Amino acid sequence: LSPVPSDIEISRAQTPKAIDQLAKEIGLLSDEIEAYGQTKAKVRLSLLDRLKEQPDGKYVLVAGITPTPLGEGKSTVTIGLVQALTAHLKLNSFACLRQPSQGPTFGVKGGAAGGGYAQVIPMEEFNLHLTGDIHAITAANNLVAAAIDARILHEATQSDKALYNRLVPSVNGVRKFSPIQIARLQRLGIEKTDPGTLTAEEITAFVRLDLDPEKVTWQRVVDTNDRFLRKITVGQANTEKGHTRQTQFDIAVASEIMAILALTDGLGDMKERLGRMVVGSSRKGQPVTADDLGVTGALAVLMKDAIKPTLMQTLEGTPVFVHAGPFANIAHGNSSVLADKLALKLVGEEGFVVTEAGFGADIGMEKFFNIKCRASGLQPDVVVLVATVRALKMHGGGPSVSAGAPLPSEYINENLKLVEDGCSNLKKQIQIAHLFGVPVVVALNVFKTDTQAEIDLVCQIAKNSGASDAVACHHWSRGGRGSVELAKAVRDASSQQNRFQFLYDLQLPIVEKIRTIAQRVYGADDIELSPEAQAKIDYFNQQGFGSLPICMAKTHLSLSHMPDKKGVPTGFILPIRDVRASIGAGFIYPLVGTMSTMPGLPTRPCFYDIDLDPETEEITGLF
Ligand code: ADP
Repeated sequence: LSPVPSDIEISRAQTPKAIDQLAKEIGLLSDEIEAYGQTKAKVRLSLLDRLKEQPDGKYVLVAGITPTPLGEGKSTVTIGLVQALTAHLKLNSFACLRQPSQGPTFGVKGGAAGGGYAQVIPMEEFNLHLTGDIHAITAANNLVAAAIDARILHEATQSDKALYNRLVPSVNGVRKFSPIQIARLQRLGIEKTDPGTLTAEEITAFVRLDLDPEKVTWQRVVDTNDRFLRKITVGQANTEKGHTRQTQFDIAVASEIMAILALTDGLGDMKERLGRMVVGSSRKGQPVTADDLGVTGALAVLMKDAIKPTLMQTLEGTPVFVHAGPFANIAHGNSSVLADKLALKLVGEEGFVVTEAGFGADIGMEKFFNIKCRASGLQPDVVVLVATVRALKMHGGGPSVSAGAPLPSEYINENLKLVEDGCSNLKKQIQIAHLFGVPVVVALNVFKTDTQAEIDLVCQIAKNSGASDAVACHHWSRGGRGSVELAKAVRDASSQQNRFQFLYDLQLPIVEKIRTIAQRVYGADDIELSPEAQAKIDYFNQQGFGSLPICMAKTHLSLSHMPDKKGVPTGFILPIRDVRASIGAGFIYPLVGTMSTMPGLPTRPCFYDIDLDPETEEITGLF
């Protein structure tokens, strides 16, 4: 329709097919799905076993130029592309997307189900509770937090003997260590299984984690943009006997458990990763883990359903997996390895799996390759790089925009000079993809204000910069048929020779890995480590964490660390303020500047427009 109706109007106008019918169409057996209502189903991991001999399909990553407040449309391109591949080119395809956090849905950004005629439906289900995975993560994360503070209190208020008697109680006259306690004894080098035989020193070592309250790194989480939880004091009731401590809440998707969900390849691996999570350090400086707290089994129980990807559909009835959605700065910002693996088997050798990386290619794609592909062992065949004329104009020096204000005329009228200058950013992002040896197709997401001359100019520059192809996409206004050219370009690029390689060797020292990313991807002259960052790197090396990949926590708004530097900044030194680690997820994350892990609400949040009609149960105002 023209003009294109609102996202929720389009979503509601299409009746989704029943989820069991979609499951059947894509070759799932009835006992491989668990339906959640009519339009969503979790898919059991046993499918991987059944299809293990089946060759994988082609693996396509959608990434973008450096984001601007004008939006690029990576999700709409992803969905438009699978709609075109399946419904128009008759090739099996699957989209694998992140589950959005509810914070932005009610805050500033709105939903993330795509938009226009390229959407996942029902979009309200996608954007809200879905199948409860984020709630499961919140529950698991906060169980760890509760265990930490309770343990500190109990250790502070009880003797070794009292602690031992409570941790290893006598049941019907028999005292026994639980399996998780035996594992802890082994980590301490105590090879005993009879609780009666421990020496006094061994009992002390066993019962005292001796967590330093100042060095607890684990935070509580909630899936709401609640800025007043950025700094809080816990333990103020009399019952906690003065054990107050300053701490904070993060948004749920920033939990390390979310990053683990995205990187794990099965229940056994997830349990091991959960157990390895470091929650803080002891007064002697030793890391304390979830295993030490004895909470790993309970976490696995809370996460056992969340590990199964959720099947949904696009507006044109093609299959989508929605699974995991880690933060893209302090974590790697990609959807799950498991969803990609299942989808690659389901589409078959000739089919396509299209997945999306958050932020610009310098961040989302770099982490997709160096972190996610390392964890999964999968090799991408094509990168689709999304750009818009409007965003390129901003990179070329166009004026900044403020929320709610009308767009400056530069973004509405033809301006070839701004487009040409801004293509420097597109060119740089193409070069970054080529560092990994993967062919690039540029997808220019067309807005109605773009002129033909502007569109032609971008496509020409992209091809001259080494892209295998560059095409204009009209999926937002026309659905899959508006992306047929893109689908053909992706199909052709996927048959090119693949020379995929990682950017750095894991065995390089941590500092060299950071320097490689800063210089080769961001274009920095060098890096500068604060004394605190250097001390942390020394500590991680000493603890044996030196060979993990790097997950840079940098602004997404510039290739550099300075958000207002658009285009391709040069001549800068990247400052590394601090270095932290997610040992369970399996990466080291250097902080470039300060990162907020709890967004706030603006004066007029999205929730002002969201409403429910009690008669029809129709939701309005989601976008
Ligand atoms: P990203 O994945 O890059 O964050 P999305 O695909 O979620 O971007 O799109 C952001 C917003 O921009 C959505 O509300 C979407 O409907 C809108 N949008 C995307 N492409 C177009 C377009 N070509 N014309 C108009 N609006 C668009």
